[in-house]
Amino acid sequence: GNKNINAKLVLLGDVGAGKSSLVLRFVKGQFIEFQESTIGAAFFSQTLAVNDATVKFEIWDTAGQERYHSLAPMYYRGAAAAIIVYDITNQASFERAKKWVQELQAQGNPNMVMALAGNKADLLDARKVTAEEAQAYAQENGLFFMETSAKTATNVNDIFYEIAKRLPRV
Ligand code: GDP
Ligand code: MG
Repeated sequence: GNKNINAKLVLLGDVGAGKSSLVLRFVKGQFIEFQESTIGAAFFSQTLAVNDATVKFEIWDTAGQERYHSLAPMYYRGAAAAIIVYDITNQASFERAKKWVQELQAQGNPNMVMALAGNKADLLDARKVTAEEAQAYAQENGLFFMETSAKTATNVNDIFYEIAKRLPRV
């Protein structure tokens, strides 16, 4: 039979990497060129049908600023999944993503499904982080990796779909 799964999902990553834009694309099918910075965190929900289940994602889009760092555990604690987002045109955002992965590995739910999103994949001319480097890092750390673009919608539904497929079927 078909199962209904509720899954708490958190987006983490540097300010400006495109967390809110990925959520807006996934939930509303929209993109805003001048997306406002998130204050604290924002909540969204979206349902996705996979083969054997209907997954309702309860999505926490966090701010990413260092001054909100102490709030992050409230959002990733108990989360079934996390998307760690960096901007392929910004090396520092990739380094920041690795820090989030370390924190989740140390403090997060051990069964958490973790995805690494190299966002702004439409900005190829400005690329600073290669897909090979990110893929190798993801593989070593047990994440799955996709390059995404909230702007063009490339791989946005796909990354949520891949997470939905990997969630434990209780
Ligand atoms: P957040 O701080 O991680 O939530 O990042 P935002 O979603 O607020 O995005 C920061 C800026 O990057 C905004 O101006 C977005 O329009 C832009 N942006 C987000 N995703 C993409 C993308 O995939 N491609 C391009 N070209 N710009 C993007
Ligand atoms: Mg934001």
